[in-house]
Amino acid sequence: MRDLIAFQCEQCKRKNYTGSRNKKKSTEKFANKKFCPACRSHTLHKEAKV
Ligand SMILES: [Zn+2]
Repeated sequence: MRDLIAFQCEQCKRKNYTGSRNKKKSTEKFANKKFCPACRSHTLHKEAKV
């Protein structure tokens, strides 16, 4: 079972990336530094629902 998730920029709240994850294996939320086109810089992206 895989859940579709989105990565949301912490600063502008845009959803810039999507992905999937195994719900059974990982219960903690992802938080990655990714490039945000809106902020034009690398910001912290947190997992959010699509
Ligand atoms: Zn942003």
